[in-house]
Amino acid sequence: MKLVKTVKEVREIVKEWKKQGLSVGFVPTMGYLHEGHKSLILKSVSENDKTVVSVFVNPIQFGPNEDLASYPRDIKHDMALVEDAGADLIFNPEPEEMYGSHFTTLVNTTEVSENLCGAKRPVHFGGVCTVLTKLFNIVNPNRAYFGQKDAQQLAVVKRFVKDLNFDIEIIGCPIIREDDGLAKSSRNTYLNKEERKAALILSKSLKLGLEAIKNGERNVKTVTDIITKSLNTEPLARIDYVSIVDNENIQYIDTIKGEILCAIAVYIGKTRLIDNFIYKCEE
Ligand code: AMP
Repeated sequence: MKLVKTVKEVREIVKEWKKQGLSVGFVPTMGYLHEGHKSLILKSVSENDKTVVSVFVNPIQFGPNEDLASYPRDIKHDMALVEDAGADLIFNPEPEEMYGSHFTTLVNTTEVSENLCGAKRPVHFGGVCTVLTKLFNIVNPNRAYFGQKDAQQLAVVKRFVKDLNFDIEIIGCPIIREDDGLAKSSRNTYLNKEERKAALILSKSLKLGLEAIKNGERNVKTVTDIITKSLNTEPLARIDYVSIVDNENIQYIDTIKGEILCAIAVYIGKTRLIDNFIYKCEE
């Protein structure tokens, strides 16, 4: 397993692999890796001859009052996890290597990025699409792996890859959780002991919503009210949004039909956590 810091090095290595006819899987991350990231890397390793993992805290996807400066970093730990998962290369560039001094291009989607986190974090998805466009061009993978944990991001990536004719298969992977149900996240490290306990309210509340849908409830407001009421029982929780949308275009709906995404964003103290479930109606 090798760590490289420059675009040139990645290009040379991947070019050599491609010359040998090898397939390349790619897992983009912001580092501080955990079992959720590892599940993506393991899937890529099982489906491709070579796997590249990028570790890059992308400055342009953070808003001015967000946690760019405090985002957790530990490249030594990340290297060990990536090596253990069997990947071949980590790309860990500095911001200067990615954006230089005069970067003026922005890639963005419309529609699919306008609601949920897109509405709350106006610069976020433009930053994500732009860095992924660059990373896809640098790594030139056959397949790229994304977690369902960031469900809107997955929908956005699928859309821009289709719209812009990237020849890359986008593969979604299930949410990996702690034993007690909290979705694994690099940001969980911000939580103190009391907040860590309080954070359980996210998965618990979603479970109540899912149960209602499974029991036949089809009214979106009724389900979001159940989830909201449950979240509000936790004094440390402050709701950013509780929404149900169609899982392809990420547009608000009134009635649950087809494949829906139920997504929430909740502050626990100062930490903003997201979680979700997908439900496919059979009728
Ligand atoms: P991040 O480092 O937070 O940008 O995440 C990198 C990738 O890992 C994204 O595709 C995430 O959706 C995915 N990921 C993060 N947490 C989890 C999790 N708990 N389960 C599955 N995938 C995850």
